[in-house]
Amino acid sequence: MDKKEILSKFSTDPERYYKVKLFEDERFERKSCVTCKRFYWTMDENRVNCPDHSDDTYSFIGNPPTAKRFDYTQAWKEVESFFVKNGHTSVNRYPVVCRWRDDLYFTIASIVDFQRVMGSKVVFEFPANPLVVPQTCLRFKDLENVGITGRHFSSFCMIGQHSIPNSQGYWKDECIDLDYRLVTEQFGVDKKEVIFVEDVWEGGGSFGSSLEFFVKGLELGNAVFTEFQGDLSNYKTLDQQIIDMGAGLERFAWLTMGTPTAYDCCFGPITNNLLQQVGIDANDELLVTYFTEIAKHLERFSDLSEVRKNAIKTSGLSDEQINKIITPLEGIYLIVDHIRTLIFAISDGALPSNVGGGYNLRMMLRRIISTMDRLSLKFDMNEIVDTQINYLKNMYPELEKTREDIKTIIGIESGRYENSKLRMEKIVSKLNQKPTVDDLIRLYESDGVTPDYLKEMKVISDIPSTFYSKLSQLHQSKKQKEQDQVSLEKLPDTELLYYGDDPKEFDAKVLKSFDKYVVLDKTSFYARGGGQEPDHGTIEKFEVVDVVKHGNVVVHELKNGIPKEGSTVSCVIDSKRRDGITKNHTSTHILNSSTRSVLGSWVWQHSAFKEEDHARLDITHHSALTDDEIVKIEKLANSIVEKNMSVTIESFDRGTAEQKYGFKIYQGGIVPVKSVRIVSIEDFDVEACGGTHVKKTGEIELIKITRTKRIQDGVVRIEFVSGPTALDYTKQHDASIIKKSAELKEKMEMKEKRREKKQELRERFPILVDSIIQSKIGTNIVDEIIVDMTESGKPNFCSTISDQYDELFHTSLGQKLIEKDPWMVYCGVFEDGDKIRTIIYSGEQAAKYKKAVDIVKLVSEMLGGAGGGNQRFAQGGGKEKFKKNDAIEKAKAMVLEV
Ligand SMILES: [Zn+2]
Ligand SMILES: [Zn+2]
Repeated sequence: MDKKEILSKFSTDPERYYKVKLFEDERFERKSCVTCKRFYWTMDENRVNCPDHSDDTYSFIGNPPTAKRFDYTQAWKEVESFFVKNGHTSVNRYPVVCRWRDDLYFTIASIVDFQRVMGSKVVFEFPANPLVVPQTCLRFKDLENVGITGRHFSSFCMIGQHSIPNSQGYWKDECIDLDYRLVTEQFGVDKKEVIFVEDVWEGGGSFGSSLEFFVKGLELGNAVFTEFQGDLSNYKTLDQQIIDMGAGLERFAWLTMGTPTAYDCCFGPITNNLLQQVGIDANDELLVTYFTEIAKHLERFSDLSEVRKNAIKTSGLSDEQINKIITPLEGIYLIVDHIRTLIFAISDGALPSNVGGGYNLRMMLRRIISTMDRLSLKFDMNEIVDTQINYLKNMYPELEKTREDIKTIIGIESGRYENSKLRMEKIVSKLNQKPTVDDLIRLYESDGVTPDYLKEMKVISDIPSTFYSKLSQLHQSKKQKEQDQVSLEKLPDTELLYYGDDPKEFDAKVLKSFDKYVVLDKTSFYARGGGQEPDHGTIEKFEVVDVVKHGNVVVHELKNGIPKEGSTVSCVIDSKRRDGITKNHTSTHILNSSTRSVLGSWVWQHSAFKEEDHARLDITHHSALTDDEIVKIEKLANSIVEKNMSVTIESFDRGTAEQKYGFKIYQGGIVPVKSVRIVSIEDFDVEACGGTHVKKTGEIELIKITRTKRIQDGVVRIEFVSGPTALDYTKQHDASIIKKSAELKEKMEMKEKRREKKQELRERFPILVDSIIQSKIGTNIVDEIIVDMTESGKPNFCSTISDQYDELFHTSLGQKLIEKDPWMVYCGVFEDGDKIRTIIYSGEQAAKYKKAVDIVKLVSEMLGGAGGGNQRFAQGGGKEKFKKNDAIEKAKAMVLEV
């Protein structure tokens, strides 16, 4: 049975499902729409159509049906005061990042605030009854409509009116009575204008009949009477009925203001400022006509561009008016809407990225930039963030705290986009046909090229209407959930001693033993969980190598055999291992809070791993950590260790803990039980955690970050050690630093020596040259340079293989010698890395008999290599260093043989 069928089933029994006391008291009539046959309730005897098919649809644009005008924040004050006056508790909004459900990234409806996971079931937990909440909700499937339709937003405020029918709360009759009075008494809409349409709503495994209420064709809200669970063809009554009324605050404001679009009254001061900057008059009569046409026909065309074309035609707009007014206006609405969503998301700790929920945020930021570029709008995004927060803070004061963080993230992310533009240009230039929707998705997924960029580059003229819904289907879909498959029949829950006295030695009864596994009636072995590795130790003579929890049953994995079922066994925990893990685990809490205070409010624990001698913490952060940031984090963490703060553990009812500490307690993910274990390190860190912790931070002694790395977009890994491992690490680290600095010192000294020697050489170089030239006939040695002088008219030979001389010396000396003595041949040999090189100079006269190039060939060959040059100068070399003496002797013989 699908939704349509269940609706027609409910509608055959309106007395049971739809008729409320108000309809009787106020003599509402039940009618069926002459166009679509839907059933609705009205006081207007002349009405024949449902709100969707009436002539007065959207006639409030330009002609609001209320005496008073309320903008967005004022409208909430009206709603809030009405419900509070009528016995409701006004609850602050919950984060838009849905940390308490593991199947949602973002909060998509107000009822989600109160849904909690219990085992595998969703249960309702209300902090008050009845209540009202201004819940910001994020929805990404209609992104292409935003800015164009006048009423679609990427985030909106859902007025949540929720009640459990009991001694405090109420059911259908009072719910509809309140909603009716809210519209007629508080907002002053004429009674005849309020129409209730019969419908059905299902979600989160439960469903019920519902009444949508409309004024002038605008759906203001939907009151759902949740009372069944199961799927539509096989359901049963819920133990707990729930009133789930969700209304759009944006729509209440719009109805009273009658502006051309809902954007004008919700972003009032922000858009006004931007419109002035580009010179558009938002009160233009023409806009009223245009946007009324858009609103009326939105559902009648399947494609948005058709709706737009139709509205342009009916309202008689010229191309110039479209280009000068409508197109820039749509762009401005889009920009302001998307920035508002980013403000809420970043403020609540989400980061734009290419994974998980971050996907949509990155997409939106890129749309903003592309739209500004396409329309040549030069807005300052920081300024828009400021005006939005200034406007919203009356209603949502918490945004003030993260104002600067929001700008930081938007700035970093915009810079990244600018940097990727060149690459995107290249990719786009290679496209040779109009991309399909699948192409568009692939272009964005693999290359980060948004359809808005393609629009900006004029590759496409419109974004296909299915693009965003397809993309959001791909990414909004469930976070992965692992289910273990091991069935342990009907074993009782294992008593967990580590949450009590935590004995390191204890006796227990074997309830079950099979393969290599053992289940005991109680255990103090910590089972792997929350990133904490399991305890090791012994059960009788068997080694415990792994401990895992299946549901509430702890299973020990043993090595070399298992004890008998029914026997009593003595168990010993490896305390040293547990100690190391416990210190690392507590350090994770300290580091997590330290990184948040050093880096910014967007830091959340992404995941963690704690072993005996090492651990890691993955956090959400936009960039790799700098050395300076690492030093600051480590310093702050160790100051918490030095302060020897108390670590306390208390159990709370889940709802109470959330109200007391906020949702930041869910650093390690959701808690699927009603009672949460809150671990506090005084007022420095508070988390819900099931692991083992030290009693005083001083026990940790020292925390040392060993390495950090950006492991994926938006996630940074911090590897660290603590306790004795950290002390050892520091010792070793210090030793290696000492060794390194000694090596460095030695290198520097060598360098300095060489520099000194060169200086000295330079000073005595002229003397050296002179003493060589003035050598007596025969063999002379000057500073390890061998000089063979012959009688005049024959070549002289001068050579050296001394390692005190480098390339520069050989060339300087060679040049100088042949300049002063035209009969001189100079041959220098020196080592250069793993090679041996030679430089030969032959004087003007000497070269007539012995050419430099010939000598170099001979020498190089001896050295196992080759060389080249001309008559006067040549160079070469080889690899056979040990042959340098032989090579020089050969050269000498060759030169002096004449
Ligand atoms: Zn109808
Ligand atoms: Zn913990």
